[in-house]
Amino acid sequence: MTFLTRIAPMSSAIQVYPIPALTDNYIWAMVDRSKTHALIVDPGEAQPVNDFLTEYQLSLVGILLTHHHFDHTNGVEELKLQHEAIVIGPNKDGIESLTKAVTGGSKFTITSLGLKFIVLDIGAHTKGHIGFYTPGKLFCGDTLFSAGCGRIFEGTASQMYNSLCKITSLPDDTLIYCAHEYTLANLRFAHVVEPSNEKIESYIERVTTLRKQGLPTLPSSLQLEKEINPFLRCDKPEVIASAESYAGHRLKKAEEVFKWLRKWKDGF
Ligand code: ZN
Ligand code: FE
Repeated sequence: MTFLTRIAPMSSAIQVYPIPALTDNYIWAMVDRSKTHALIVDPGEAQPVNDFLTEYQLSLVGILLTHHHFDHTNGVEELKLQHEAIVIGPNKDGIESLTKAVTGGSKFTITSLGLKFIVLDIGAHTKGHIGFYTPGKLFCGDTLFSAGCGRIFEGTASQMYNSLCKITSLPDDTLIYCAHEYTLANLRFAHVVEPSNEKIESYIERVTTLRKQGLPTLPSSLQLEKEINPFLRCDKPEVIASAESYAGHRLKKAEEVFKWLRKWKDGF
């Protein structure tokens, strides 16, 4: 409980809690000010969600799904039946448990939490992968990670590059709620790509301290990611030079730099 109260933002109309699940997943839970209702994102397991709801005496009103992978959806059927919760997710990812299918540009409101969402089409990790944006917050599943990005399983590098561009066009103070605690491993790669980026070095120290205390490194912010995430820095000289030396030839466009960085990271 102390773990949750220590990291919950105090100024927002809602609070967002990480529910750790499986090996390194976070199921994000949005809770209203009066601590009555909860809306969760990507429940890869039902049990930790039910434990959280019981501990805080919350009723589950809805489930948001970013993509079809089991580590994001395995708890859905059980939670949906137990709590009669609505399930909102991508129309192009073949998820059967949805009560509402959405696509890029869709808007919806969760009245009990007073939240309006707009859906971002950010495919490539999976074909139909979406993100949920509400002012100040983005729930981006496995598309953007702190200091990294998702693997490309069902799309192309070009599609992933465009998905990340959609995210970087959001306001810089947007908090980024990724679905996995991959930050430290990602930063090791980021440091190799950009050895003279001091922000990366100091962030490694901060993240190491947080992890030693058992605390999440998330949410991140878009502003921070633009400073430390090599996949969002494909136009920076040192990133270009590193990607070119890995590729063995000149790379003319940021999108090509991205493609080679992603290839490099896949085998890192
Ligand atoms: Zn995934
Ligand atoms: Fe995942």
